[in-house]
Amino acid sequence: MNRREFVAAACSAGTQRALHQSDLRGLAVEKLEAFCLSVRRGTWLLFRLYARNGATGIGDASHGGDDRAVIEFARRLVAAFQSRSIFEIEYLRQRALPLVQNYGRPAAVALGGIEQCLWDLQGQFLGVPVYQLFGGALRKRIPVYANINRATQLRTPEGFARLAAEAVRAGFRAVKLAPFDGMPKPGSDRAEFERWTELGIACARAVREAIGPTRELLIDVHKHMDFESGLRLAQRLEPLRLYWLEEITPSVEDQARIKRQVRIPVAGGESLFGVGDFYRYIRAEAAHILMPDIKSCGGMLELKKIAAMAEGAGLLISPHGPASPVGNIAAAHVCATLPNFQILEYAFGEVPWRAELVEPPEPVMDGELVLGERPGFGFRLNMDIVRRYAVAGT
Ligand SMILES: [Mg+2]
Repeated sequence: MNRREFVAAACSAGTQRALHQSDLRGLAVEKLEAFCLSVRRGTWLLFRLYARNGATGIGDASHGGDDRAVIEFARRLVAAFQSRSIFEIEYLRQRALPLVQNYGRPAAVALGGIEQCLWDLQGQFLGVPVYQLFGGALRKRIPVYANINRATQLRTPEGFARLAAEAVRAGFRAVKLAPFDGMPKPGSDRAEFERWTELGIACARAVREAIGPTRELLIDVHKHMDFESGLRLAQRLEPLRLYWLEEITPSVEDQARIKRQVRIPVAGGESLFGVGDFYRYIRAEAAHILMPDIKSCGGMLELKKIAAMAEGAGLLISPHGPASPVGNIAAAHVCATLPNFQILEYAFGEVPWRAELVEPPEPVMDGELVLGERPGFGFRLNMDIVRRYAVAGT
């Protein structure tokens, strides 16, 4: 069934009827392609899913920890989905849940990648941008911040400041770094721990200096602190007027205690899966800002559900997503519809060919990702770029 026949069936004069499974046969999924691209830090794993009518949808399944396992789980999900249509997102989720429970992150990312492809296919089939399927856009210009952490080689105040200045020149109004990466655990070598802490704070100060007082500074601690060191760090960072301090401690309870004692917005939750994990995180009052990642939190519909819970709790949503343009564009379609959306992550400077990976090129300008009116996500993979940077054997 093509789109014209679909619409005709749905609206046949005087005899409107529900579409049956048999009507949707052409919209069953048929084949999955996976492309693994080499980038500065690791790989980007992209999916292209074919419906039986020949249409294709794209998705980002990067950062699953083990690309081969992600592809294997994705193929299993597609096989289990053969007799279903591209609309059956909740069914896909139900099939994926046991895999996620048994195998964790690679299975969650496989689900996220496939689910994005299905939304792209749905939007194309219905002739509407995906944000229309999530309640309609409250905004089509999606604010993004430059995560300079992945691209900064020289991890000194000068190195981070240089990248931050580049991001500002590229039009970004908010910059994030994780200047404590590589430091020893709290309670190990005390002198080393203090040396790393001082270096990280110096990097944060240098970036504040480089971006000036009016742009936003975000610091990701990557859970390198315990309660005492985290509280001290947050207090020392207060004068830098952070937009947020992210993932301070491994313990959710410790982070909640720090949050209560400092005057800095706290963000977190990038590795959580599903409404259950986020419900517990909200209940623990561990953050002001939640950071679900559509690749690993259960997907785009899961992001919408998590955002609804957050809205009820008076919290903001800033999706995590330092991956490819495909993942950012997919997340942006949901962000467009969220009343409590704040800002979306963007991996600045990871590869020079980033914008060209999709056609038309990724529209990030003046710190915003601009969504248009094209059906689906509105973008296709640029196969010249995909082939040029594909990891051999994928
Ligand atoms: Mg983070």
